[in-house]
Amino acid sequence: MQEKLTLMIPGPTPVPESVLQAIGRHPIGHRSGEFQEIVKRTSNQLKWLHQTNSEVLTITGSGTAAMEAGIINTLSRGEKVVCGENGKFGERWVKVAKAYGLNVEIVRADWGQPLNPEEFRAILEADTNKEISAVILTHSETSTGVLNDLQTISKHVQDHGKSLIIADCVTSLGACNVPMDKWGLDVVASGSQKGYMMPPGLSFVAMSDRAWQACEKSDLPKFYLDLNLYRQAAIKNSNPFTPAINLFFSLEVSLNLLQKEGLDAVFSRHARHQAAAIAGMEAIGLSIFSAKGHRSPAITAVNPKNINAEDLRKAVKEKYDILLAGGQDHLKGQIFRIGHLGFVNDRDVLAAIAAIEATVQSLDKKHQTTGDGIKAAAKILS
Ligand SMILES: *Cc1c(COP(=O)(O)O)cnc(C)c1O
Repeated sequence: MQEKLTLMIPGPTPVPESVLQAIGRHPIGHRSGEFQEIVKRTSNQLKWLHQTNSEVLTITGSGTAAMEAGIINTLSRGEKVVCGENGKFGERWVKVAKAYGLNVEIVRADWGQPLNPEEFRAILEADTNKEISAVILTHSETSTGVLNDLQTISKHVQDHGKSLIIADCVTSLGACNVPMDKWGLDVVASGSQKGYMMPPGLSFVAMSDRAWQACEKSDLPKFYLDLNLYRQAAIKNSNPFTPAINLFFSLEVSLNLLQKEGLDAVFSRHARHQAAAIAGMEAIGLSIFSAKGHRSPAITAVNPKNINAEDLRKAVKEKYDILLAGGQDHLKGQIFRIGHLGFVNDRDVLAAIAAIEATVQSLDKKHQTTGDGIKAAAKILS
């Protein structure tokens, strides 16, 4: 039943009815006073969400547009950057940096393991000539369900003194605490189809004062993603090009919902759902793929042992109309991922756990745990 399909993937995430309805009106002129008012209000709300006094710019494009904008607006040809890579999105950063001819040093960790902040510290301390222009990493690595220690790595970057820190916070912003100013983050990238509880189409890039200073010297090629244009337009509560106007309508509604809920409540909702998903899976006897103590509140990656993860995923979708995410690249068939990001409630989490448990039992006759998963999850949620 397509109409009943529940998304439990890490983006796109489910969207509240009121957010959807906001899109379904006639577009208005993007140079109109009415639109400028929306830009003004949402810009302030975005600062609240990022816990920053810096400008947060909205780009019409997917999350990768914000990531790319962060790189090409702060860096210059041939500059040295250090990229963290412990999953698919870390790899994406490396690809973007290399596409623009930057000199990339990679700090790796196995998929499922967190990046080691000590490795960043050592590299930054050894850089006495201050050749490193940026440290670039993914906060919540969606492909593996790992939450990297952005706060500690950012501290090491501050100690370096010259390097910027550029972070993909696409599945951490609006899911857990990402206080941009307090942690000293220079560029924070995010996208609408994640914690924002919106359809895809808008992305957001927040830039610190240090990032804007670097922007003045940056000589990488850019046009549509030239953030100077967005910044100048933002002064007039406007956009340099025709933005996805109808998505701005829904942005305001979703940010209103988040503000009404409150940041702490939003974070604890995600933490509860994460805890329930982990407890449920472990009670069924399935192991969590990501390292303990380093797990993302947005997504739980599960290793279903002697069941092919893709078979399980297909059965859960066909029988229960719940869409789980699969493993990417070498993890395909080995893990499945439960998205509990964005507009997800307790019922969604309980239903997903019950569906997974029932499916495990039908695919593996030796594996009979009737009710254990749901019991463990319900205990946490109650
Ligand atoms: C979803 C996601 C992105 C953005 O991907 P787009 O398809 O470009 O929106 C970037 N980083 C992470 C960690 C993500 O989960």
